[in-house]
Formats: sequence, structure tokens, C-alpha cells
Amino acid sequence: MTLERLRAVRHLALDMDGTIHLGERLFPETLPFLELLDELGIGFTFLTNNNSKGREEHLHKLKKLGVRVGSNQLLISTDAAIAHLQASMPGVARLHVLGSPGLRRDFRAAGYQVIDGPDEPPDAVIIGYDTALTYEKLERAARWISAGLPYLATHPDRVCPTDGDTVLPDCGAICALLEAATERAPDAIPGKPSPAMLASLCERDSLAPDQVAMVGDRLYTDMRMAREFGCPAILTLTGETTRERAAAASPRPDIVVANLAELGALLRQANPTK
Ligand SMILES: [Mg+2]
Repeated sequence: MTLERLRAVRHLALDMDGTIHLGERLFPETLPFLELLDELGIGFTFLTNNNSKGREEHLHKLKKLGVRVGSNQLLISTDAAIAHLQASMPGVARLHVLGSPGLRRDFRAAGYQVIDGPDEPPDAVIIGYDTALTYEKLERAARWISAGLPYLATHPDRVCPTDGDTVLPDCGAICALLEAATERAPDAIPGKPSPAMLASLCERDSLAPDQVAMVGDRLYTDMRMAREFGCPAILTLTGETTRERAAAASPRPDIVVANLAELGALLRQANPTK
């Protein structure tokens, strides 16, 4: 990818887990990188599929890590699901939500009624990343999915990145279990790699696709999303993708960097007069 193409970029969509931090550890390159973006006049918005936390909890965690952002600089897969419901399913008001308290709160804040009772058929079923999953919750979701109600998963991630010695089954793995039980896959998955979050960001800030670039650590969500939307795809090797896997990827990311410091150096080169 030429520096010319990078010069056109006025806004970065930044993945979080594996890109700016891993678990509770902020990468040392992150804050200097965000300061550089300010200096170069390049905006940024965090894009995350992880809705085991709600909006307020994400903003609180970022603040604790030392990253100060406004609420409008964060887009969660939950926001993409809400936008999908509003655009494509305007009659839906009552949701059965299998997800964390923060996720459920975000749907309520968007005006939806979140219902759980065994005898209250919802208008649609939403599956998110529920870190307090129980058999009872699975049983109830499976019942409504089996009954043929509209069914959305917020995002397809099979596992959540972690800095610990553990494997964290995520929304995609929960949906695989439900698919085995009900023989139904979700009707729609609005989070990454669907280009919906990038499209809404560009619409919000009146940006053309070549003025925004997606920076992330995952080939099957971040990089695919950039491809589907038609903006530059920048892979950082600080998360789950190794240099070997990046080199073997098809299509290849436009830029591969070891970390955000390396990307910062490229952006500075592309914007020499700033
Ligand atoms: Mg990531």
C-alpha cells in the first residue's frame, strides 16, 4: 500500500482487544500513538465486538487504562445490532437477550423491552457474549429460536482474546451450541466482519471509505470487515495473528505492522508537513 493511500486517511477505526490492549494490560505504544493521531489531525473510534461489557463499563475500563475518549468514540457490536433492528425490523419491541447485564442495559437504553419469562414470547432473540451463561438461559433461548422467532447474534467471534492461560468461549461458540440444538443459524450477525459499523461511522462523520482505515489483530473479523467495506486493512501483530499467518492470508492485509508504534511511524511519513 502506498503512502499516498495512507495520506488520504483522516480517521482510524481501532479494534480494542489485541490491538490497544490485551486483557487488563494496555500496550506501551497505545497512548503515544493516540497522541500522535491528535497531532496529525486524524480522528479515531474504537470498534469492538466484545459486549460482555456494556457501554458504560467499556468507557470506565478505558479510563482506568488511561485512555480518555468520549462516548461517541466507541462502537460496540451491540450498536450494530440495535441499528439493524431499527432499520430492518421496526416492529420489534420485546427482546429475549442472552447476554451480560451491560448488554441488556444497552438494549434497554435504546428503547427495547428486555423480557425473560418462560411464558412471554419475545418479538426477537438476541445472542451476545454472556460470561454468566447458565443452562437455564440456553434452554430458554433455544426454545424461542426453535419456535422460529427472528434470531440475531451480535458478533461471530468464537473466542475472546486474553492475556491469561485460558480459553474464553465467545458469542460464536454459544451460537454453535444453539445451532446444534435447534438446527438454526442466526438470521443476521451485525458485528464485525459485517461492514455495518464502518458504514455508520462514515455516515456519522461524512467520511468517504478511502478516508477511513481499519486497524485490528484479527483476520476473520477486522481485516475481512475492511475488505467488505472497501477501506484500507491494517493488521497489527500484537494480538492473535502471527507474521506467518498474515503472510499466508488471502486476501493479504494492505499493511502489516508489529505494533501501533510502527503504524505511527508510517502515518508520520505519510503526513510530513503536519
Ligand atoms: Mg482484537
